[in-house]
Amino acid sequence: MQQQDFDYDFLVIGGGSGGVRASRVAAGLGARVAVVEAAQLGGTCVNVGCIPKKLLSHAAHFSQLAEEARGFGWQLEHPQFDWPTLIANKDREIERLNGVYGRMLAGAGITLIHGRAALSGPHSVLVNGQTIHARHILIATGGTPSLPDIPGVEHAISSDEAFHLPHLPRRVVVVGGGYIAVEFASIFNGLGAETTLLHRRQQLLRGFDADLGLHLGQEMAQLGVNFRWEDEIQAIDKQADGLHLQLKSGEQLVVDCVMYATGRVPLIQGLGLEAAGVKVNDKGAIEVDQHFCSNVPSIHAVGDVVDRMALTPVALAEGTVLAHHLFGQGGKSAPDYELVPTAVFSHPQVGTVGLSEEVARERFGAVQVFQSGFRPLTNRMGAEPENVFLKLIVSTADQRVRGVHMVGEGAGELMQGFAVALQCGATKQQFDSTIGIHPTVAEELVTMREPVRE
Ligand code: FAD
Ligand code: NDP
Repeated sequence: MQQQDFDYDFLVIGGGSGGVRASRVAAGLGARVAVVEAAQLGGTCVNVGCIPKKLLSHAAHFSQLAEEARGFGWQLEHPQFDWPTLIANKDREIERLNGVYGRMLAGAGITLIHGRAALSGPHSVLVNGQTIHARHILIATGGTPSLPDIPGVEHAISSDEAFHLPHLPRRVVVVGGGYIAVEFASIFNGLGAETTLLHRRQQLLRGFDADLGLHLGQEMAQLGVNFRWEDEIQAIDKQADGLHLQLKSGEQLVVDCVMYATGRVPLIQGLGLEAAGVKVNDKGAIEVDQHFCSNVPSIHAVGDVVDRMALTPVALAEGTVLAHHLFGQGGKSAPDYELVPTAVFSHPQVGTVGLSEEVARERFGAVQVFQSGFRPLTNRMGAEPENVFLKLIVSTADQRVRGVHMVGEGAGELMQGFAVALQCGATKQQFDSTIGIHPTVAEELVTMREPVRE
């Protein structure tokens, strides 16, 4: 096919974080671009992910703040929470963001096509019964929740549905021990539901520094979340008084809502990958090289569908790299995944950048661990004795700071600056010579002098 026979230079399937970023950068570099989106613009992050989750998480924090406020002299008699108000206001904000995304695409001269796309060949896509030809095709279709196949699982929900529940469940079980499980257990608990987190292990946030999950679990329990460790639901039976859960441990639980947060899988179903000969790995993720090109030279993929690190800023970075590779001078390389900072918006929050102690020991052998746990000033007057946990990992030989980890409110905000320091290769001596900001929690990270372990 000749260049002029293509309808577009770049056809993007999926108007979420990665797709929208790649399309805008490509259009800015002069490409003729179209985006096909089956649902709402903004994808998971805007509609059923980061944004609504953060709003719900913020809402949940008020109950804790109201408790703390009493210690500071505030008399807040019987504060009442109204779920429909929260959801309606959240929906209004999401609708506004959907509009912002639409205007952003239009402003960049990008054609938006509403519909579900499937590949019909290396340069062609079928959408709404029409075949569109493009020089390059990007698959940025994201991921979808994965629920175990147990009897009665149809009575359970995932985080997708949690954002649209008609009312706050009175008794809820959240299954899993990763990001979504701890975030939603904190949300339900903070908003007043009787909340149980049920996990198949006795460790939260596997893959993070192990101390973070340990400390988070203790703090969440202190705030009222019930934990059921090393257990699984074998069957869910819907009865008049609620959902009856048969557990592997032999016990039964009766609740109003079961939410699975047991991971997400790449969304490739119905995409026609076979028609175009696109290779996927054993987890169903599209295999790509360092520029996000698949084994088919005209087909590319970024974001959750390549399953390198399922975070919005990562999808954005990947989309940028690809667009420059295809339509610019290239020169941009894939992000350093080991230095991607991340926050878990549980209560309390978790913030982390760099290596866990476990990985650093494996990699460098000798490491120094600095850590501190304390009750910050503002938590000393209220009812909730929340403790902050901070940890620094330093490779002994070159004294580089390899990991910064925190459990405590504000961890997400705090970690961004430390990510810059690690990106610059900061040493422990440079941390030590940095003047603290007093009185803050963050100053502790530049004043830890004695390692607790070497
Ligand atoms: P998506 O944003 O999922 O976009 C994919 C788009 O493709 C969707 O709009 C979908 O409708 C569309 N699509 C799919 N198939 C087709 C098709 N065949 N045709 C046309 N369109 C199609 N990340 C963070 O960094 N911070 C957070 O706080 C955070 N919180 C999260 C909370 C939750 C509950 C969840 C589920 C995720 C969260 N994430 C967070 C992860 C983040 O949302 C994802 O990593 C990010 O959205 C991935 O972007 P993407 O472009 O790969 O896919
Ligand atoms: P995670 O991979 O973080 O966690 C999945 C959890 O479910 C793990 O604890 C896992 O246990 C458990 N699990 C998996 N399969 C089963 C099963 N069959 N039965 C019981 N338990 C099971 O996935 P999430 O769903 O929490 O989130 C998906 C991704 O979305 C995250 O990895 C993250 O990249 C992104 N995200 C980011 C957020 C943020 O940036 N704040 C917030 C929310 C999501 P085990 O440890 O044993 O494997």
